Amino acid sequence: MDQTDAGRAAARVADRDRLYVDGEWVAPLDALPMPVQDPATEEVVAQVPAAGSADVDRAVAAAKAAFDSWAGLSPGARADHLDRLHAALSARAEQVAATIAIEVGTPIKVAQRVQTGLPLTVLAGYAARARDGFDPETIRNSLVVREPAGVVGAITPWNYPMHQVVAKVGAALAAGCTVVLKPAELTPLTAFLLFDAIDEAGLPHGVVNLVTGSGPVAGAALAAHADVDVVSFTGSAATGAAISRLAADRIARVTLELGGKSANVILPDADLAKAVKVGVGNAFLNAGQTCTAWTRMLVHRAAYEEAVELAAKASAGYVTGDPFDPVTRLGPLVSERQRDRVRTYVDKGLADGARLVSGGPDAPVPARGWFVAPTVFADVDPDDTIAQEEIFGPVLSIIPFSDDDHAVEIANNSRYGLAGAVWSADEDRAMAVARRMRTGAVDINGGAFNPFAPFGGYKQSGVGRELGEHGLAEFLETKTIQR
Ligand code: NAD
Repeated sequence: MDQTDAGRAAARVADRDRLYVDGEWVAPLDALPMPVQDPATEEVVAQVPAAGSADVDRAVAAAKAAFDSWAGLSPGARADHLDRLHAALSARAEQVAATIAIEVGTPIKVAQRVQTGLPLTVLAGYAARARDGFDPETIRNSLVVREPAGVVGAITPWNYPMHQVVAKVGAALAAGCTVVLKPAELTPLTAFLLFDAIDEAGLPHGVVNLVTGSGPVAGAALAAHADVDVVSFTGSAATGAAISRLAADRIARVTLELGGKSANVILPDADLAKAVKVGVGNAFLNAGQTCTAWTRMLVHRAAYEEAVELAAKASAGYVTGDPFDPVTRLGPLVSERQRDRVRTYVDKGLADGARLVSGGPDAPVPARGWFVAPTVFADVDPDDTIAQEEIFGPVLSIIPFSDDDHAVEIANNSRYGLAGAVWSADEDRAMAVARRMRTGAVDINGGAFNPFAPFGGYKQSGVGRELGEHGLAEFLETKTIQR
């Protein structure tokens, strides 16, 4: 058995034929089997249930029945449950990382450090926060109290399958809500591991429930369900709009974490080598399947050609291959469909006249698996399709600008506004640009991602925030009591 086979074996991936409802693994009421594929080998690695609306109804009923007692628990008792869940999930960390490498195709080191390490940090944070409870606020003669918002329907995508689930489930449980989760159909195996941990931790029956299945069937049934009070969604803007419509008739609360087309603004006084290196790494993280990816690199004309050369060189140095090979930095795209979609964008970039400086359609990639070579385009017009649409693959567009105003104008020329970056030797200047960017987050000179700070989008990147105190607030109602 070679190293990559050993890595796959460590995941212990197996078929799962049950859903987790009311504290038990139960046979689905009306499910069909749904295959899960490994994007590096193109093989079907497991079958899971694609549940129908009867299973969603049963899970929502369990969450509703459990709500009063979970909401009524003391903060300390809720925190104890979350601590036990954190311990049970931590004990599975290696298996979680290997499973993510199999179902997403994330290189194993990134699967361990980011895809598994980050949600464990977030869960520990929410367990600690749950213990503090929610102190009432006094405003003149009013007592203002915060209460759990009810039953949460959580619908998540495939690119960071544990993080996106834990950001919702951890916050909702800490707030005192109960949950039904519908994870992405491409990556349900990670969710099964979370529910193994939930089962082992002995959370009260019905507090968290798992229904796997397709978006249009199980996802839509959950978003439209009359007894779901909060729909917490992460995914594409098009699905976010569809989910908002499904929730609108009953005025359910909806939070949306959607796509991005983030700008990495490199001012002329920046440390160019560092800005380009970190920028390329950010754009290609998880094979570019990261909603915050800095897919537009904006460089001042004075440093432009040098930046293009540096980016092309950095991109050419990316080792593309099997996620379980420790030298791999770029794994496959998650599915054949996603690979074909990304290839179409690369062709469109060429057709629109962008200058290909690395990768492209003819660059070599492994014969087996859904790979796209890391690709860098220079001289991209800010209005071109590849500079406007979220590609969700390893494709970077470099765009020149002439001064700070021009950089801000290009950065804001997007329907999205999720993340971004500014690089400059002058922190005040970087801050001034950051403040003018219409986006939910900006990193200055490579500032590290903070999992306790609010995360979310302006414009079509979403509604509401996740993580930290702001993420918690999405699952709380506010009541004013006059005295
Ligand atoms: P997607 O919208 O296709 O699917 C996301 C989830 O929605 C899946 O669970 C899917 O089954 C479900 N779904 C699909 N159609 C549905 C419907 N009609 N009703 C109810 N549920 C439905 O997105 P994806 O392709 O899985 O994920 C990629 C997208 O997610 C990208 O656009 C990316 O930017 C975005 N994303 C955003 C964030 C963020 O936090 N802002 C994080 C990660 C990914």
